[in-house]
Amino acid sequence: MRVSILNVGTELLFGQIVNSNASFLSKELNDLGFDVMYHYVVGDNPSRIKKQLEVALSDTDIVITTGGLGPTQDDITKEIACEYFGMPLVLYDDIVRDIEQKFIKFNKSMDANNLRQAYFPEDAIILDNAFGTAPGCILKKDNKIIVCLPGPPRELIPMFSDVKSYLRDLTDDHIYYKFIKTIGIGESALETKIMDLVMNQTDTTVATYASLGETYLRITSKNKDYARAKQNVEEFIVKLYDKIGEYIYSTDQKDLPTVVFEKLLEYNLKISSAESCTGGLFASTMIDIEGSSQVFDRGIISYSNEAKNEILNVSQDVLDKFGAVSEETASAMAQGLFEISKSDISVSVTGIAGPDGGTIDKPVGLVYMAISDGKNVSVFKKLYSKMSRNDIRKRSVLDMYKMIFDFLEQNYEKR
Ligand code: ATP
Ligand code: MG
Repeated sequence: MRVSILNVGTELLFGQIVNSNASFLSKELNDLGFDVMYHYVVGDNPSRIKKQLEVALSDTDIVITTGGLGPTQDDITKEIACEYFGMPLVLYDDIVRDIEQKFIKFNKSMDANNLRQAYFPEDAIILDNAFGTAPGCILKKDNKIIVCLPGPPRELIPMFSDVKSYLRDLTDDHIYYKFIKTIGIGESALETKIMDLVMNQTDTTVATYASLGETYLRITSKNKDYARAKQNVEEFIVKLYDKIGEYIYSTDQKDLPTVVFEKLLEYNLKISSAESCTGGLFASTMIDIEGSSQVFDRGIISYSNEAKNEILNVSQDVLDKFGAVSEETASAMAQGLFEISKSDISVSVTGIAGPDGGTIDKPVGLVYMAISDGKNVSVFKKLYSKMSRNDIRKRSVLDMYKMIFDFLEQNYEKR
Protein backbone atom coordinates (compact mmCIF):
# COMPACT_ATOMS: atom_id res chain seq x y z
CA MET A 1 0.00 0.00 0.00
CA ARG A 2 1.13 3.49 -0.79
CA VAL A 3 1.53 6.09 1.93
CA SER A 4 2.22 9.84 2.08
CA ILE A 5 3.41 11.76 5.08
CA LEU A 6 2.11 15.29 5.53
CA ASN A 7 3.92 17.29 8.21
CA VAL A 8 2.04 20.39 9.23
CA GLY A 9 3.75 23.35 10.90
CA THR A 10 4.93 26.77 9.82
CA GLU A 11 8.01 26.37 12.04
CA LEU A 12 9.09 23.45 9.80
CA LEU A 13 9.04 25.75 6.78
CA PHE A 14 11.03 28.38 8.68
CA GLY A 15 13.66 25.76 9.42
CA GLN A 16 13.22 26.28 13.14
CA ILE A 17 12.72 22.61 13.81
CA VAL A 18 14.06 19.54 12.06
CA ASN A 19 11.41 17.29 10.56
CA SER A 20 12.30 14.24 12.60
CA ASN A 21 8.70 12.97 12.51
CA ALA A 22 8.99 12.38 8.76
CA SER A 23 12.11 10.34 9.16
CA PHE A 24 10.72 8.35 12.10
CA LEU A 25 7.47 7.55 10.29
CA SER A 26 9.21 6.67 7.04
CA LYS A 27 11.45 4.15 8.73
CA GLU A 28 8.57 2.59 10.63
CA LEU A 29 6.29 2.43 7.59
CA ASN A 30 8.97 0.91 5.39
CA ASP A 31 9.64 -1.71 8.02
CA LEU A 32 5.93 -2.51 8.05
CA GLY A 33 6.03 -3.14 4.31
CA PHE A 34 4.33 0.06 3.16
CA ASP A 35 5.62 2.08 0.25
CA VAL A 36 6.24 5.64 1.38
CA MET A 37 5.80 7.65 -1.79
CA TYR A 38 5.88 11.29 -0.67
CA HIS A 39 6.81 13.63 2.15
CA TYR A 40 4.92 16.91 2.14
CA VAL A 41 5.47 19.83 4.48
CA VAL A 42 2.91 22.60 4.77
CA GLY A 43 2.39 25.58 7.09
CA ASP A 44 -0.54 26.03 9.48
CA ASN A 45 -2.81 27.27 6.72
CA PRO A 46 -6.26 25.73 6.11
CA SER A 47 -6.43 25.98 2.33
CA ARG A 48 -2.87 24.77 1.80
CA ILE A 49 -3.36 21.83 4.18
CA LYS A 50 -6.52 20.87 2.29
CA LYS A 51 -4.80 21.21 -1.05
CA GLN A 52 -1.94 18.95 0.04
CA LEU A 53 -4.36 16.35 1.41
CA GLU A 54 -6.01 16.29 -1.98
CA VAL A 55 -2.69 15.93 -3.80
CA ALA A 56 -1.49 13.23 -1.42
CA LEU A 57 -4.68 11.17 -1.57
CA SER A 58 -4.84 11.39 -5.36
CA ASP A 59 -1.81 9.11 -5.56
CA THR A 60 -1.62 7.20 -2.28
CA ASP A 61 -4.04 5.18 -0.14
CA ILE A 62 -3.02 6.55 3.23
CA VAL A 63 -1.93 9.98 4.44
CA ILE A 64 -0.34 10.35 7.84
CA THR A 65 -0.39 13.91 9.15
CA THR A 66 1.69 15.21 12.03
CA GLY A 67 1.21 18.41 14.01
CA GLY A 68 -1.64 20.80 14.50
CA LEU A 69 -3.68 18.78 17.00
CA GLY A 70 -3.13 21.18 19.88
CA PRO A 71 -5.61 23.64 21.39
CA THR A 72 -4.37 26.86 19.75
CA GLN A 73 -5.96 28.66 16.80
CA ASP A 74 -3.27 27.50 14.39
CA ASP A 75 -3.86 23.84 15.29
CA ILE A 76 -6.35 22.87 12.61
CA THR A 77 -5.18 19.65 10.98
CA LYS A 78 -7.90 17.36 12.31
CA GLU A 79 -10.66 19.85 11.45
CA ILE A 80 -9.37 20.23 7.89
CA ALA A 81 -9.04 16.46 7.41
CA CYS A 82 -12.64 15.96 8.56
CA GLU A 83 -13.83 18.77 6.35
CA TYR A 84 -11.99 17.18 3.42
CA PHE A 85 -13.76 13.85 4.02
CA GLY A 86 -17.05 15.66 4.67
CA MET A 87 -17.31 14.23 8.18
CA PRO A 88 -19.12 16.34 10.79
CA LEU A 89 -17.49 16.54 14.21
CA VAL A 90 -19.33 15.57 17.37
CA LEU A 91 -18.37 16.07 20.99
CA TYR A 92 -17.26 12.86 22.73
CA ASP A 93 -18.19 13.10 26.40
CA ASP A 94 -15.77 10.40 27.48
CA ILE A 95 -12.88 12.22 25.77
CA VAL A 96 -13.92 15.46 27.55
CA ARG A 97 -13.66 13.58 30.86
CA ASP A 98 -10.29 12.12 29.84
CA ILE A 99 -8.92 15.55 29.04
CA GLU A 100 -10.29 17.00 32.29
CA GLN A 101 -8.54 14.21 34.19
CA LYS A 102 -5.29 14.94 32.40
CA PHE A 103 -5.43 18.60 33.37
CA ILE A 104 -6.02 17.65 36.99
CA LYS A 105 -3.09 15.23 36.80
CA PHE A 106 -0.80 17.81 35.16
CA ASN A 107 -2.03 20.37 37.72
CA LYS A 108 -3.03 22.84 35.02
CA SER A 109 -6.23 24.71 34.36
CA MET A 110 -8.24 23.67 31.33
CA ASP A 111 -9.65 26.34 29.07
CA ALA A 112 -12.45 26.23 26.54
CA ASN A 113 -10.06 25.71 23.63
CA ASN A 114 -9.07 22.33 24.97
CA LEU A 115 -12.60 21.12 24.33
CA ARG A 116 -11.79 21.22 20.62
CA GLN A 117 -9.62 18.18 21.25
CA ALA A 118 -12.68 16.16 22.23
CA TYR A 119 -14.45 16.56 18.86
CA PHE A 120 -14.17 13.75 16.33
CA PRO A 121 -16.32 12.28 13.56
CA GLU A 122 -18.72 9.58 14.68
CA ASP A 123 -16.90 6.64 13.17
CA ALA A 124 -13.34 7.81 13.77
CA ILE A 125 -10.86 5.58 15.55
CA ILE A 126 -9.54 7.73 18.40
CA LEU A 127 -5.93 7.30 19.45
CA ASP A 128 -5.12 7.90 23.11
CA ASN A 129 -2.33 10.36 23.83
CA ALA A 130 -0.46 9.06 26.85
CA PHE A 131 1.95 12.00 26.96
CA GLY A 132 -0.25 14.97 26.05
CA THR A 133 -3.85 16.09 25.98
CA ALA A 134 -4.66 15.91 22.26
CA PRO A 135 -5.81 12.49 21.03
CA GLY A 136 -4.98 11.47 17.48
CA CYS A 137 -7.38 9.76 15.10
CA ILE A 138 -7.79 7.49 12.12
CA LEU A 139 -10.37 8.54 9.54
CA LYS A 140 -11.52 6.25 6.75
CA LYS A 141 -13.63 7.08 3.76
CA ASP A 142 -14.11 4.71 0.84
CA ASN A 143 -10.65 3.27 0.34
CA LYS A 144 -8.75 6.27 1.64
CA ILE A 145 -7.34 6.74 5.11
CA ILE A 146 -6.09 9.80 6.97
CA VAL A 147 -4.21 9.30 10.23
CA CYS A 148 -3.79 12.47 12.34
CA LEU A 149 -0.92 12.42 14.83
CA PRO A 150 0.36 15.13 17.20
CA GLY A 151 3.52 17.13 16.42
CA PRO A 152 5.68 16.57 19.51
CA PRO A 153 7.76 13.42 18.96
CA ARG A 154 7.35 12.36 22.58
CA GLU A 155 3.59 12.18 21.97
CA LEU A 156 3.70 10.90 18.39
CA ILE A 157 6.16 8.02 18.86
CA PRO A 158 4.19 6.20 21.58
CA MET A 159 0.92 6.87 19.76
CA PHE A 160 2.33 5.33 16.63
CA SER A 161 2.36 1.88 18.21
CA ASP A 162 -1.49 1.87 18.07
CA VAL A 163 -1.35 3.02 14.46
CA LYS A 164 1.10 0.23 13.74
CA SER A 165 -1.29 -2.50 14.81
CA TYR A 166 -4.06 -0.89 12.76
CA LEU A 167 -1.84 -0.67 9.67
CA ARG A 168 -0.49 -4.19 10.08
CA ASP A 169 -4.02 -5.54 9.66
CA LEU A 170 -4.40 -3.67 6.38
CA THR A 171 -1.65 -5.47 4.56
CA ASP A 172 -0.63 -9.09 4.34
CA ASP A 173 2.78 -8.20 2.92
CA HIS A 174 5.83 -8.92 5.02
CA ILE A 175 9.04 -7.08 4.60
CA TYR A 176 12.52 -8.30 5.36
CA TYR A 177 15.67 -6.25 4.91
CA LYS A 178 19.31 -6.18 5.83
CA PHE A 179 21.98 -3.51 5.74
CA ILE A 180 25.27 -4.48 4.18
CA LYS A 181 28.10 -2.17 5.19
CA THR A 182 31.13 -1.81 2.97
CA ILE A 183 34.32 0.19 3.13
CA GLY A 184 37.08 0.84 0.63
CA ILE A 185 34.89 1.27 -2.45
CA GLY A 186 32.90 4.29 -3.61
CA GLU A 187 29.17 4.20 -4.27
CA SER A 188 29.35 4.31 -8.06
CA ALA A 189 32.17 1.75 -8.34
CA LEU A 190 30.17 -0.53 -6.09
CA GLU A 191 27.05 -0.07 -8.18
CA THR A 192 28.96 -0.97 -11.32
CA LYS A 193 30.23 -4.17 -9.73
CA ILE A 194 26.77 -5.36 -8.74
CA MET A 195 24.83 -3.91 -11.68
CA ASP A 196 24.05 -7.20 -13.46
CA LEU A 197 23.12 -8.83 -10.17
CA VAL A 198 20.65 -6.06 -9.41
CA MET A 199 19.27 -6.04 -12.95
CA ASN A 200 18.49 -9.77 -12.84
CA GLN A 201 16.65 -9.47 -9.59
CA THR A 202 12.88 -9.36 -9.34
CA ASP A 203 12.07 -10.24 -5.75
CA THR A 204 14.59 -8.03 -3.93
CA THR A 205 15.36 -4.34 -4.17
CA VAL A 206 18.71 -2.73 -3.50
CA ALA A 207 19.27 0.83 -2.33
CA THR A 208 22.74 2.31 -1.85
CA TYR A 209 23.72 5.02 0.63
CA ALA A 210 27.09 6.75 0.77
CA SER A 211 28.62 7.94 4.01
CA LEU A 212 32.14 9.31 4.62
CA GLY A 213 34.39 6.52 3.29
CA GLU A 214 31.68 3.90 3.45
CA THR A 215 28.85 2.64 1.27
CA TYR A 216 25.81 0.87 2.65
CA LEU A 217 23.39 -1.34 0.78
CA ARG A 218 19.85 -1.97 1.95
CA ILE A 219 18.58 -5.26 0.55
CA THR A 220 14.81 -5.55 0.86
CA SER A 221 12.28 -8.17 -0.08
CA LYS A 222 8.52 -8.03 0.30
CA ASN A 223 6.38 -11.14 0.25
CA LYS A 224 3.13 -12.53 1.62
CA ASP A 225 5.30 -15.24 3.17
CA TYR A 226 7.81 -13.85 5.69
CA ALA A 227 10.15 -16.85 5.38
CA ARG A 228 10.26 -16.38 1.62
CA ALA A 229 11.11 -12.67 1.95
CA LYS A 230 13.92 -13.55 4.34
CA GLN A 231 15.24 -16.26 2.06
CA ASN A 232 15.24 -13.90 -0.93
CA VAL A 233 17.42 -11.45 0.98
CA GLU A 234 19.78 -14.10 2.36
CA GLU A 235 20.23 -15.65 -1.10
CA PHE A 236 20.96 -12.26 -2.58
CA ILE A 237 23.59 -11.58 0.07
CA VAL A 238 25.39 -14.82 -0.82
CA LYS A 239 25.60 -13.61 -4.42
CA LEU A 240 26.77 -10.20 -3.22
CA TYR A 241 29.67 -11.77 -1.35
CA ASP A 242 30.89 -13.26 -4.65
CA LYS A 243 31.00 -9.80 -6.21
CA ILE A 244 32.02 -7.47 -3.40
CA GLY A 245 32.84 -9.70 -0.43
CA GLU A 246 36.25 -8.11 0.12
CA TYR A 247 34.60 -4.77 0.94
CA ILE A 248 31.85 -6.06 3.26
CA TYR A 249 32.49 -5.73 6.95
CA SER A 250 29.02 -6.06 8.44
CA THR A 251 25.60 -7.46 7.58
CA ASP A 252 23.96 -6.61 10.87
CA GLN A 253 24.06 -2.81 11.23
CA LYS A 254 27.21 -2.80 13.37
CA ASP A 255 29.74 -0.07 12.72
CA LEU A 256 33.35 -0.85 11.87
CA PRO A 257 34.89 0.00 15.27
CA THR A 258 32.41 -2.36 16.95
CA VAL A 259 33.12 -5.14 14.45
CA VAL A 260 36.88 -4.73 15.04
CA PHE A 261 36.38 -4.60 18.81
CA GLU A 262 34.41 -7.87 18.74
CA LYS A 263 37.07 -9.58 16.66
CA LEU A 264 39.84 -8.46 19.02
CA LEU A 265 37.79 -9.78 21.91
CA GLU A 266 37.15 -13.08 20.15
CA TYR A 267 40.86 -13.61 19.45
CA ASN A 268 41.81 -12.34 22.90
CA LEU A 269 44.10 -9.61 21.55
CA LYS A 270 45.18 -6.29 23.01
CA ILE A 271 45.82 -3.26 20.85
CA SER A 272 47.53 0.12 21.32
CA SER A 273 47.67 3.19 19.15
CA ALA A 274 50.16 5.96 18.42
CA GLU A 275 48.52 8.88 16.69
CA SER A 276 49.83 12.05 15.16
CA CYS A 277 47.40 13.79 12.78
CA THR A 278 44.29 12.14 14.24
CA GLY A 279 45.16 13.44 17.71
CA GLY A 280 43.60 10.63 19.72
CA LEU A 281 40.48 10.16 17.60
CA PHE A 282 41.24 6.48 17.10
CA ALA A 283 41.69 5.91 20.82
CA SER A 284 38.56 7.91 21.53
CA THR A 285 36.36 5.86 19.16
CA MET A 286 37.79 2.69 20.69
CA ILE A 287 37.03 3.90 24.20
CA ASP A 288 33.49 4.87 23.10
CA ILE A 289 32.77 1.14 22.97
CA GLU A 290 31.59 -0.43 26.20
CA GLY A 291 34.06 -3.00 27.43
CA SER A 292 36.96 -1.53 25.47
CA SER A 293 39.37 -2.05 28.37
CA GLN A 294 39.36 -5.74 27.47
CA VAL A 295 41.07 -5.02 24.15
CA PHE A 296 42.56 -1.53 24.34
CA ASP A 297 45.83 -1.07 26.20
CA ARG A 298 46.93 2.49 25.57
CA GLY A 299 46.76 5.37 23.15
CA ILE A 300 49.58 7.83 22.66
CA ILE A 301 49.26 11.17 20.95
CA SER A 302 52.74 11.82 19.59
CA TYR A 303 52.12 15.02 17.70
CA SER A 304 55.56 16.64 17.61
CA ASN A 305 58.78 15.11 16.33
CA GLU A 306 60.13 15.25 19.88
CA ALA A 307 57.21 13.19 21.14
CA LYS A 308 57.70 10.63 18.38
CA ASN A 309 61.37 10.43 19.32
CA GLU A 310 61.11 10.57 23.11
CA ILE A 311 58.04 8.37 23.67
CA LEU A 312 58.11 6.01 20.72
CA ASN A 313 61.88 5.94 20.06
CA VAL A 314 61.49 6.97 16.43
CA SER A 315 65.12 7.77 15.63
CA GLN A 316 66.14 11.33 14.87
CA ASP A 317 67.77 9.96 11.72
CA VAL A 318 64.48 8.62 10.37
CA LEU A 319 62.69 11.87 11.22
CA ASP A 320 65.42 13.98 9.58
CA LYS A 321 65.84 11.83 6.53
CA PHE A 322 62.23 10.91 5.69
CA GLY A 323 60.17 13.44 7.64
CA ALA A 324 57.37 12.96 10.17
CA VAL A 325 54.89 12.06 7.43
CA SER A 326 56.54 9.08 5.78
CA GLU A 327 56.33 5.33 5.46
CA GLU A 328 59.45 5.00 7.61
CA THR A 329 58.11 7.15 10.47
CA ALA A 330 54.72 5.40 10.50
CA SER A 331 56.52 2.06 10.63
CA ALA A 332 58.89 3.19 13.39
CA MET A 333 55.97 4.60 15.41
CA ALA A 334 54.13 1.26 15.30
CA GLN A 335 57.28 -0.70 16.14
CA GLY A 336 58.30 1.70 18.92
CA LEU A 337 54.83 1.48 20.42
CA PHE A 338 54.88 -2.31 20.23
CA GLU A 339 58.07 -2.34 22.30
CA ILE A 340 56.73 -0.10 25.08
CA SER A 341 53.13 -1.32 25.22
CA LYS A 342 53.42 -5.10 25.16
CA SER A 343 50.14 -5.27 23.27
CA ASP A 344 49.60 -7.96 20.66
CA ILE A 345 49.01 -5.36 17.98
CA SER A 346 50.13 -1.75 17.66
CA VAL A 347 48.87 0.75 15.13
CA SER A 348 50.13 4.17 14.14
CA VAL A 349 49.07 7.07 11.96
CA THR A 350 50.86 10.19 10.72
CA GLY A 351 49.74 12.59 8.02
CA ILE A 352 49.05 16.10 6.83
CA ALA A 353 45.52 17.12 7.82
CA GLY A 354 45.94 20.68 6.48
CA PRO A 355 44.73 23.11 5.47
CA ASP A 356 48.38 24.33 5.54
CA GLY A 357 51.60 22.39 5.56
CA GLY A 358 51.25 20.58 2.24
CA THR A 359 53.98 20.49 -0.43
CA ILE A 360 54.09 19.06 -3.95
CA ASP A 361 55.77 15.91 -2.66
CA LYS A 362 53.65 15.69 0.44
CA PRO A 363 50.27 17.26 -0.20
CA VAL A 364 47.49 17.89 2.31
CA GLY A 365 45.61 14.62 2.78
CA LEU A 366 48.70 12.40 2.59
CA VAL A 367 48.50 9.92 5.47
CA TYR A 368 50.57 6.88 6.39
CA MET A 369 49.30 4.25 8.78
CA ALA A 370 50.99 1.13 10.06
CA ILE A 371 50.17 -2.04 11.94
CA SER A 372 52.60 -4.29 13.75
CA ASP A 373 52.37 -7.58 15.61
CA GLY A 374 56.00 -7.48 16.68
CA LYS A 375 57.14 -9.79 13.90
CA ASN A 376 55.94 -7.86 10.86
CA VAL A 377 54.95 -4.32 10.21
CA SER A 378 52.78 -3.24 7.28
CA VAL A 379 52.45 0.37 6.18
CA PHE A 380 49.63 1.82 4.08
CA LYS A 381 49.70 5.07 2.18
CA LYS A 382 46.48 7.05 1.74
CA LEU A 383 45.76 10.23 -0.12
CA TYR A 384 42.52 11.96 0.84
CA SER A 385 42.21 14.74 -1.65
CA LYS A 386 39.89 17.73 -1.47
CA MET A 387 38.81 17.02 2.09
CA SER A 388 38.56 19.24 5.12
CA ARG A 389 40.97 18.84 8.03
CA ASN A 390 38.43 17.03 10.14
CA ASP A 391 37.21 14.78 7.34
CA ILE A 392 40.82 13.73 6.67
CA ARG A 393 41.16 12.85 10.34
CA LYS A 394 37.88 10.92 10.42
CA ARG A 395 38.69 9.04 7.21
CA SER A 396 42.13 8.15 8.56
CA VAL A 397 40.58 6.62 11.66
CA LEU A 398 38.08 4.66 9.58
CA ASP A 399 40.86 3.31 7.40
CA MET A 400 42.87 2.38 10.49
CA TYR A 401 39.95 0.20 11.52
CA LYS A 402 39.81 -1.28 8.02
CA MET A 403 43.55 -1.97 8.24
CA ILE A 404 43.04 -3.83 11.55
CA PHE A 405 39.99 -5.65 10.18
CA ASP A 406 41.98 -6.92 7.17
CA PHE A 407 44.93 -7.81 9.37
CA LEU A 408 42.72 -9.93 11.63
CA GLU A 409 41.04 -11.61 8.66
CA GLN A 410 44.39 -12.51 7.13
CA ASN A 411 46.13 -13.62 10.30
CA TYR A 412 43.43 -14.98 12.58
CA GLU A 413 40.17 -15.66 10.74
CA LYS A 414 41.01 -19.07 9.32
CA ARG A 415 42.82 -20.43 12.35
P1 ATP B 1 0.82 20.91 20.71
O1 ATP B 1 -0.34 20.36 21.45
O2 ATP B 1 2.12 20.82 21.46
O3 ATP B 1 0.55 22.26 20.09
P2 ATP B 1 0.51 19.87 18.01
O4 ATP B 1 0.05 18.50 17.65
O5 ATP B 1 -0.43 20.99 17.78
O6 ATP B 1 1.03 19.83 19.50
P3 ATP B 1 2.43 21.46 16.65
O7 ATP B 1 1.83 22.64 17.35
O8 ATP B 1 2.34 21.41 15.18
O9 ATP B 1 1.82 20.10 17.20
O10 ATP B 1 3.94 21.28 17.07
C1 ATP B 1 4.29 21.25 18.44
C2 ATP B 1 5.76 20.96 18.57
O11 ATP B 1 6.02 19.63 18.16
C3 ATP B 1 6.68 21.79 17.71
O12 ATP B 1 6.99 23.01 18.31
C4 ATP B 1 7.89 20.91 17.59
O13 ATP B 1 8.70 21.00 18.73
C5 ATP B 1 7.28 19.53 17.53
N1 ATP B 1 7.07 19.12 16.12
C6 ATP B 1 6.03 19.45 15.32
N2 ATP B 1 6.16 18.90 14.10
C7 ATP B 1 7.32 18.22 14.10
C8 ATP B 1 8.03 17.44 13.13
N3 ATP B 1 7.54 17.26 11.90
N4 ATP B 1 9.20 16.87 13.48
C9 ATP B 1 9.69 17.07 14.73
N5 ATP B 1 9.07 17.78 15.70
C10 ATP B 1 7.91 18.36 15.40
MG1 MG C 1 0.16 23.10 18.33
